[in-house]
Amino acid sequence: MGETKKVRYAGRFGVRYGRGIRERVLKVEEKQRKPHKCPNCGFKKVKRISTGIYKCRKCGAEFAGGAYTPSTMTGRIVVRMVKQRKFVPLMKELLLTTEGAEEQAEASETKEEEKEEAKQE
Ligand SMILES: [Zn+2]
Repeated sequence: MGETKKVRYAGRFGVRYGRGIRERVLKVEEKQRKPHKCPNCGFKKVKRISTGIYKCRKCGAEFAGGAYTPSTMTGRIVVRMVKQRKFVPLMKELLLTTEGAEEQAEASETKEEEKEEAKQE
């Protein structure tokens, strides 16, 4: 099974799975196979090794990314959120409670209890 005019190399599936799905496979695989830009050296030499794993053929940098492309929409959003440090206050709270600061943990617990009581009222 080779290439077809309509779905190109997704023609390897023959007539199976339906035209819509074969078209979708073509779209994903085009993105997956083209060389991507390396976040380390900037050359367009990044290739997909396996699901979510990419390697630069120029500088040898290996990194994780999306399943079919090195960066995804949701991945970029998460990176931006981490950069903006929206999670830092939450992390501090978490560290304080897990590091055995019992007094503060108790204090926060009583606060939460108070809140719950307020809600009930
Ligand atoms: Zn590189």
